Order: sequence, then C-alpha cells, then structure tokens
Amino acid sequence: MFWWRNEVRPGVSVAFTDTGAGNLALHVGDDPAQVAARRARLARAAGLGAGNFQYAGNFQYMNQVHGNTVAPIDALGPGPTADAMVSGGLPVSGFSRRAQPLAVMVADCVPVVLVGDGADGSVVLAVAHAGRPGVASGVVPSTVAEMRNRGAVRIRAWVGPSICGSCYEVPEQLRAEVAAQVPGTWSTTSWGTAALDLPAGVREQLTAADVAVEYSGECTLENDALFSYRRDTQTGRFAGLVWMHD
Ligand SMILES: [Zn+2]
Repeated sequence: MFWWRNEVRPGVSVAFTDTGAGNLALHVGDDPAQVAARRARLARAAGLGAGNFQYAGNFQYMNQVHGNTVAPIDALGPGPTADAMVSGGLPVSGFSRRAQPLAVMVADCVPVVLVGDGADGSVVLAVAHAGRPGVASGVVPSTVAEMRNRGAVRIRAWVGPSICGSCYEVPEQLRAEVAAQVPGTWSTTSWGTAALDLPAGVREQLTAADVAVEYSGECTLENDALFSYRRDTQTGRFAGLVWMHD
C-alpha cells in the first residue's frame, strides 16, 4: 500500500503509495468504480474519515495537465485542473487549523509533498506534479510561493519516486532547453546518451527557495513495485500524499 510513509510532526503525515495500492487515476482507461474503491481504501489506510475528526474523509485529487497552476483548496470538491494544490494556513469557516488532505498522481514524473508551519499553530499542506514541462516552468517554486502567501514558514519537502537521471533519455536539444532553465537537470543515461535528471532539478529549485528536502525517492523505472510510464506505457498512477489526522 505505502512505498514510504512518515509522520513528520504529530498529526501530520506524508506518504507515497506503491502498486499495492493499485492504480489511483481516472484518466488511464481504468474502471472508475474500481478507482474510487481504491481511493477509499487508501483513505481508510491513512486514517481519514475515522472518528469525529473534522477533516474531510478523503484526499483531494486534481486533473493534472503538465502546467504550473497552483490551486488553493479549502474543502473536498471536484478536482481542480492544476498541477499543484495548497491547503490550510488561512482560517476556513471557523476551522482555522483545517487543512484538506491532498494527493498528487505520477508514474515517472516527480511527486512533491510539502508541509509548512502556518500562523497560530496552523499547518500549510501542498502537493506538486513536476514532470519535464512542470520543472522547466517552475511549478514547484510557484507552489512554495503560494504556501508563503498562506503564511507558511519553515517549509519542508519530500520528493517522491520518479524516473532517475540515468534512465530518463531525451533528445539532446530538449536536454539543452530544460537545462538552460534548470541547470541541475543536465544528465546522461547509463548507456551514454542525453538525459534529464528531473528530481535533481526539483531539489535545486527547492533549495533555491529555501526549502529543506528531507527525502528523495528512488527510480520508478528500476522498481517494479512502482508504476512507470516509460517502462510500461499502459500503466496506472501511484500517489504522493500529505494529510492531517488524529
Ligand atoms: Zn533509473
């Protein structure tokens, strides 16, 4: 179910799922009822929806389009078309500490989950989907900026499993274009051709934004317990998660 999971402060957890959680995406030709059932099972495994806790009983997912739009989320609802979401921090209808649980889906792209300390003991949560276009267009720095708009300080980030710089082959021209924007992405495959190291690029962006990276995941293409689009093309999506709980 969980590839990696950690309670990063009391009542706040971050995690990345594995293939044991199954495909969590609605856009890859899978049965929507089965996807919904898997999402519900995952929410229960994370401890959401139990007891009388005030937080909504499921993760908010989004309709990801490889852009750099950051959607503010104040309650569970229809998925926004965006590649990042931020919740918490600001007062919401009397529940000043409420922060909607968030999910980002990937299969080789870089999933990033972030936690910051908000005002008056609140917590600011965020997720970002950083594929090649998102890294080049700065979706992760935009996410950090929106967290700070919500009052977040001492922001920490966890960079989940994604295709690594030794596996992600691209044309030389594309490597040059992306590396001109984010120098840390410049890489070479293990067989000697042009490549991009997207997780290295994300770590570079986070460090430049004064965010501490506390975990960086392994390679999706090299681990059969993770979904990889480059390996299988017709494949599911796993998720990066951040949530508050009892
Ligand atoms: Zn690799």
